[in-house]
Amino acid sequence: MQHDFEMKPATKVIHGGQEIEATTGAVMPPIFTSTTYAQESPGVHKGMDYIRAHNPTRYALERMMANLENSGISRDVDVSEGGFAFSSGCAATGSLFDLVPAGSHVIAMDDLYGGTHRLLTQVRQPSQNLKLSYIDLTNAERLAETMTGETRLVWVETPTNPNLKIADLARIAEIARKKNPDVILACDNTFASPINQRPLELGFNVVMHSATKYLGGHSDVLAGILVTNKPELAERIRFVQKSLGAVLGPFDSYLLLRGIKTLAIRVERHNESSLKIAHWLEKHPKIERVVHPGLKSHPQHEIAKKQMDGFGGMITMFIKGGLDEARRMLERVQIFALAESLGGVESLIEHPAIMTHSSISAKQRADLGISDTLIRLSVGIEDVDDLIGDLERALK
Ligand SMILES: *Cc1c(COP(=O)(O)O)cnc(C)c1O
Repeated sequence: MQHDFEMKPATKVIHGGQEIEATTGAVMPPIFTSTTYAQESPGVHKGMDYIRAHNPTRYALERMMANLENSGISRDVDVSEGGFAFSSGCAATGSLFDLVPAGSHVIAMDDLYGGTHRLLTQVRQPSQNLKLSYIDLTNAERLAETMTGETRLVWVETPTNPNLKIADLARIAEIARKKNPDVILACDNTFASPINQRPLELGFNVVMHSATKYLGGHSDVLAGILVTNKPELAERIRFVQKSLGAVLGPFDSYLLLRGIKTLAIRVERHNESSLKIAHWLEKHPKIERVVHPGLKSHPQHEIAKKQMDGFGGMITMFIKGGLDEARRMLERVQIFALAESLGGVESLIEHPAIMTHSSISAKQRADLGISDTLIRLSVGIEDVDDLIGDLERALK
């Protein structure tokens, strides 16, 4: 059912784009596993023919995401209302890159998720002859100098990983549109989640999520999402999704929908606890510097306040000393798990230089300030005082 009234995000995560199942009245979407659908006469069917293109469980998830990100596209224009689910975040990203013609100029934020950087530089640059410009978009005005008539895609991540830089989405959209109204403006919204930030409301036309993180929320599903608010783009994404076939399966679609039900309350706790821990770390004698968009010391704190409803659960900190001190702390935590990834209910801690960002060159890491003393925390929803106790013991 398409609701004819406004809902707040905490209501949308439960009801957005959802409906009671027609034949049985099931409140939760059934997991439809059938790969094919019987036809009454050749070409005459109920709108479903083959699973890669049509799956009701995946549609339920896609409509949920379209609703949460405010696609504004109705079901008679696009069957999943502008939302698309893929087998991973990277598959979603790669499918979007397929909308860009060979030889195009692409602008991306310099502090990018490592896998996106690898996909652009090592796969699509050679295969699609893309011309890439990586720029620091914390200063949106730089976009005007770098954009050309050949620029077909601007890819922004905010907050970034791991430096938690913030890009002013509304300003970027304004500058880009002036240069070229047709440019694809895409935002990787993984770190914020739609509870904290909705780029389509700020002038962007595509949102991407690694649903493996906050959307799933339980560190047990790999998935990716694209949402667009432009019907022409929805049509092209649907065509690429079906043609490449990196779609999300029905079981994973169901798990993700289940996880999303608690997204709003989880994110509320992630926001609260991480800010409390960030303030505590700022005063700790063994910590050099703490980066969190909610801290007044964050260089783009004002932009974060303007465009985000909450600052997220991620903290980046620099420990005093060197690699040995960092390693010792990482070995001593007992509640925080030493692991890659983020956004789950459990707290995680990691060392980007050795772990998540080891695929980018040492020179680039140095340019981005990803030093041996940088430690990244994904604050979970455990009792915050237990988490502080764990960090306190590890830092002793
Ligand atoms: C994890 C992640 C991705 C990639 O998503 P997968 O689901 O692992 O393929 C992309 N962007 C960001 C910001 C991420 O954290």
